[in-house]
Amino acid sequence: MENKIIIGNMKMYMNIDDVKDYITKVDKYNNVILCPTNIYIPYFLEKDYKLGIQNIYYEDNGAYTGEVSVTQVKKIGINYVIIGHSERRKYFFETDYDVNKKLLKSLENDLDTILCIGEDIDDRNNLNTNKVLIEQIEIALNNINSKYENNIIIAYEPKWAIGTGLIPSNNEIINAVDFIKSFVFDKYKMNVKVVYGGSVSDSNIKLLSKIDNIDGFMIGGACTNPDIFLKIISIINSSDK
Ligand code: PEP
Repeated sequence: MENKIIIGNMKMYMNIDDVKDYITKVDKYNNVILCPTNIYIPYFLEKDYKLGIQNIYYEDNGAYTGEVSVTQVKKIGINYVIIGHSERRKYFFETDYDVNKKLLKSLENDLDTILCIGEDIDDRNNLNTNKVLIEQIEIALNNINSKYENNIIIAYEPKWAIGTGLIPSNNEIINAVDFIKSFVFDKYKMNVKVVYGGSVSDSNIKLLSKIDNIDGFMIGGACTNPDIFLKIISIINSSDK
């Protein structure tokens, strides 16, 4: 079964030789969305994968060196965009207000959006996770029409779990996902899908796949190794009911 969404965030990993090798090894799956480094997108387009872009700018066109617009993305056949990834927030100082502008622009232009939210380690230790999630959601979803409920995927990605090898317990993930879904439903009347991301690997995916209330996984580092990624996909898809 291929019910769970699997998002591969390739970040700035891999070089051209890795990419050429990758596309010979990893087939296209209906439930897998690959988000390659921008310059390698044409190689992935040729193989007809479901594709996402790791970031966009909220203006349509103009003098914005180094940026890519939603309309440019849409025209070459990319249908998903990651917005507000914690690495964008941390290294490129993106705010929740930037995230909101990007989200509005993407949804208005028919891109399905993967909105990343999550607490840092201090928030977690101070039991502020839900408070932080509310803040991020409220600003990101400001003025978003509920007609877009099927076009929004929320990626719950605790910042302390990304790239660290640390993951929350299954119960912690269940609670956070329940909280996000109920909050978004109560406040915006939207049933959104929620995926978990943060250090998912071939050694923890069996355990994580036991979680019932998540709609899938976002996988960073581990998606760039074809053998490991294929193993992860196969475990997720075989544990699907
Ligand atoms: C990510 O970048 O969204 C991510 C989940 O990274 P990693 O799997 O490497 O922790």
